[in-house]
Amino acid sequence: MELTPVTDLPEIRPGDDLAALIADRADDLEREREGTVLTVASTVVSKAEGRTADLEDYPVSGRAEEIAARIEEVAGEEKDPRFAQAVLEESTELLIEAPFLLTETRFGHITVNAGIDRSNVPDHDLLLLPKRPTESAERIRRGLADHGYDDVAVIVTDTSGRPFRHGQRGVALGWAGMPASRDWRGERDRDGRELGVTVQSVVDELAGAANLVTGEGAGGTPAVVVRDWEFGDLEGSDELFRSVEDDLIRRALREWRFEP
Ligand code: GDP
Ligand code: MN
Ligand code: MN
Repeated sequence: MELTPVTDLPEIRPGDDLAALIADRADDLEREREGTVLTVASTVVSKAEGRTADLEDYPVSGRAEEIAARIEEVAGEEKDPRFAQAVLEESTELLIEAPFLLTETRFGHITVNAGIDRSNVPDHDLLLLPKRPTESAERIRRGLADHGYDDVAVIVTDTSGRPFRHGQRGVALGWAGMPASRDWRGERDRDGRELGVTVQSVVDELAGAANLVTGEGAGGTPAVVVRDWEFGDLEGSDELFRSVEDDLIRRALREWRFEP
């Protein structure tokens, strides 16, 4: 497989047609080829969808005041209560309130600060994640089809931290044109033993690979073409975010409170 950045994309503005901008520049998106995936950083999807915001847009609730005060108390870090309010408004559940905010976004992704970014956002304080990244991916995929690229799978990515390890990496927020994972259960290993649990989250793995090309800074390469990658014959599944019932870590966090 080969990953190539789409070069020369401009600064993305609200209302921009990302699919058209990408189709015009992606010579590598071969028209009749299966196994092509386009990854797009959520940053530019959000910009195109006008998901910018300013701190003054968020009148502060008592809950946000409380959270900001507690973060200051335990982390010694000044937290703007308007930022805490923005995070609350993007979230359906607060899992950690201090020393940092970990929440579930409205579309089911669990991440720090509801994925709200304060970098790579000219003219505004905040960039919110796309509201429904899978719909964004579907829209981009349809847009590419309108430009003659008939069967390109699309993954909307973000950079996200993970528990148990230092460092951030690319993850998938939404996808279209391919399943989220490959189910290896029932396949056999080299010794003939049947695999019982392995479901490979291919959208996250592709997002991670693409993020190597995307970078995190001023590179200006939010879109990456993945060529010659095949999903293969295994069963696919679109389950990526665990449900509360089957997420033990999340249930444990509900019972937990940080004590310095
Ligand atoms: P995130 O991982 O989705 O939060 O996005 P990042 O802030 O890490 O940016 C991913 C890539 O997109 C980096 O290479 C940025 O330089 C680039 N980028 C961000 N905004 C724009 C933009 O408006 N236009 C272009 N061409 N690149 C951008
Ligand atoms: Mn981000
Ligand atoms: Mn990033």
